[in-house]
Amino acid sequence: MITIGVIGAGQMGSGIAQVVAQHGMKVLLSDIDLAAAEKGKAGIDKALAKLVGRGKLEAADAEAALSRIDPLADLAPMADAAFIIEAATERADIKRGIFEAAGKFLASDAIMASNTSSIPITRMANWTPDPARFIGLHFFNPVPVMGLIEVIPGLATAPDTVARTRELARNLGKEVVEVQDEPGFVVNRILVPMLNEAVFVLGQGTASIEDIDKGCRIGLNHPMGPLELADFVGLDTCLEIIRVLYETTGDSKYRPAPLLVKYVEAGWVGRKAGRGFYDYSGEVPVPTR
Ligand code: NAD
Repeated sequence: MITIGVIGAGQMGSGIAQVVAQHGMKVLLSDIDLAAAEKGKAGIDKALAKLVGRGKLEAADAEAALSRIDPLADLAPMADAAFIIEAATERADIKRGIFEAAGKFLASDAIMASNTSSIPITRMANWTPDPARFIGLHFFNPVPVMGLIEVIPGLATAPDTVARTRELARNLGKEVVEVQDEPGFVVNRILVPMLNEAVFVLGQGTASIEDIDKGCRIGLNHPMGPLELADFVGLDTCLEIIRVLYETTGDSKYRPAPLLVKYVEAGWVGRKAGRGFYDYSGEVPVPTR
């Protein structure tokens, strides 16, 4: 059975671990400590139970998938992994520390991948043991639901690494688009400036949170409005992405909305914190302004 290491057991890492386990592969799941990795596994247990409750998954399959996920206290067992997928906080210093630590255990033919939303793959490749075996593997949120993966080779990524990564994505039941290593890749390059613009619109008092979201849901036929989507992605992650776009291009059109910076500084980073542009403490989300 193929083994996949997943580093970072937050919303994306847990989703990746769930999908990998549901496709019959073994998962080594790590985070800052064992308790955080176990918390990720507990979240996956809940997500699988929901699928069983809705009749979308057999109870025995859910149990088997869960049994294939091993939370880790340290990175040494990653030596058994064919792929190590990093899905930790969107900060270059954190990712660099992870690549250097996990790199010590990367098997000689294994691939290291990052689920980064925006940090250049070519830059991160230099923090890994072998840039030829490093690649961007960008999942979408929520991973079990969203059908797309962006595969992003860096300058030094070997063709064989691209081919094996595309094969993994296909084996996880996802469609692939291959994208050059440019800031934001394709989807976030288009999406995140829109989310940032929605926060400018809110900050300028042009319309209420509810009306900005309603306008885009109905007027653009989007399933979610930009502010609810930003809350869902995580306002900290949105801010990091827009900052990377701004810093790597030097183009002022990507400057972060001041209100977005304020929300992140307040710790109101969206759904995962219980509060962002909406308050999630009750039955239904309530706009906060
Ligand atoms: P999150 O905040 O839910 O989870 C991040 C996890 O990383 C946390 O559990 C945290 O404890 C862990 N972590 C922090 N430092 C670590 C370390 N040194 N070692 C191991 N784990 C560590 O964030 P997320 O939304 O899951 O985002 C994770 C990555 O996925 C980011 O690179 C983000 O840009 C990318 N991404 C996010 C989305 C999205 O919609 N949220 C979509 C695609 C990609």
